[in-house]
Amino acid sequence: VSRTSTPGGISRLVTNQADFDTRLEALLAWEGVSDAEVKARVDAIIADVRARGDAALIDYSNRLDRLQVTSMAELTLDQARLEQAYQGLPAEQRDALTAAAERIRLYHERQKPESWRYTEADGSVLGQQVAPLDRAGIYVPGGKATYPSSVLMNAIPAHVAGVREIIMVVPTPDGMLNELVLAAAYLAGVDHVFTLGGAQAVAALAYGTETVPRVDKIVGPGNIYVATAKRAVFGQVGIDMIAGPSEILVISDGGTNPDWLAMDLFSQAEHDEDAQAILVSWDAAHLEAVQESIDRLLPTLEREAIVRESLASRGALIQCRDRVEAIALINRIAPEHLELSLSNPDDWLPDIRHAGAIFMGRHTAEALGDYCAGPNHVLPTSGTARFSSPLGVYDFQKRSSIIHCSPEGASELGRVASILARGEALTAHARSAEYRIES
Ligand code: NAD
Repeated sequence: VSRTSTPGGISRLVTNQADFDTRLEALLAWEGVSDAEVKARVDAIIADVRARGDAALIDYSNRLDRLQVTSMAELTLDQARLEQAYQGLPAEQRDALTAAAERIRLYHERQKPESWRYTEADGSVLGQQVAPLDRAGIYVPGGKATYPSSVLMNAIPAHVAGVREIIMVVPTPDGMLNELVLAAAYLAGVDHVFTLGGAQAVAALAYGTETVPRVDKIVGPGNIYVATAKRAVFGQVGIDMIAGPSEILVISDGGTNPDWLAMDLFSQAEHDEDAQAILVSWDAAHLEAVQESIDRLLPTLEREAIVRESLASRGALIQCRDRVEAIALINRIAPEHLELSLSNPDDWLPDIRHAGAIFMGRHTAEALGDYCAGPNHVLPTSGTARFSSPLGVYDFQKRSSIIHCSPEGASELGRVASILARGEALTAHARSAEYRIES
């Protein structure tokens, strides 16, 4: 983990300073530590789960989550238990969770890729068939905090994709079960829940045990043990991504209430000390006003200590020259969350090439997208928006290509294939193609 702490507050940068590039790079630098000790530990857990199955899961849950279980039945929750959690919620929470789930489902239904095909003049048909995964595994972190919104964001796209079986794992340290998490699983269409966490849960999903079915893909965030285990089982199963700390980049034209912007930065910084919150504007007086809001509002926060550390180590207020410079910064940073706090965000959109999610206009706080706007909150971090996209329905589907040659098509293609195959000295290929050439 690389950090450059600025004692006493958030960094102030101006793009025309000689050392701007160096300072920005230092702020953005992020490398998850590839900790050899963690890796060895995770590899040992995975090997043990492969060798001993359920017995290993029971042992690790007792040791690492401080449980006292003797059977997998005690680590398994059935549908009735999930429904009971849902029905038992206070009405206000149940309604909010249901409203969020409904909006997330509607958004993801629009995203569903369709199969397609076309017919050539000789009658040959070519196409692509889209099919869901048989089984998806959703990791829901639960060591230090609980994340019902993560359950919705990970499981609903899988359900919309048509995944046949959705298996969720969530650790229950000291036996603590979160009713909102279970209710979210019920709403999202999760089929089975095991109260397992860490590397042992990932290993169980990747290889299967007597009780836990082997899945085809594992998605969902987690701590260093979870991330290291996902990296280790990749190839045996698919994974979504290895997420870094969360980030936001806000662009302001000076017209947004500085208190709103300060709170938007805080909402990112309160995730953890490594989270990153950056504000960019060409309006120096406005940046001053936001700084004043930050200083005034910080002491009012529940998570003040975490926010202070995050802003001091990785946050920044950046003064740029103009819109052109601001756009260059956006594309260079490729932020997970981009807030365009501007009067004309639509005019900016065509120039933005790299960003996980784009929040348009003064009223679209990132927090709305985190919970309930509809789009997914699982997004590419640490500049990986350069080459990847939000978690979506497409992550739970795969594509098969379709080729159906007519006799004429096979004859025509046979001539081309046979020449290329002979060029590669693969004569069985050539002869297989030549059999189908019509004289
Ligand atoms: P977790 O579920 O990821 O990890 C808990 C598990 O870690 C335990 O069950 C245990 O098995 C394992 N573990 C703990 N100490 C261990 C040790 N010494 N050796 C082996 N295994 C050990 O829960 P967490 O710890 O609260 O972490 C959650 C993480 O998920 C945080 O880093 C949080 O920031 C992240 N998160 C990210 C997002 C996102 O969208 N990017 C959303 C929610 C949470």
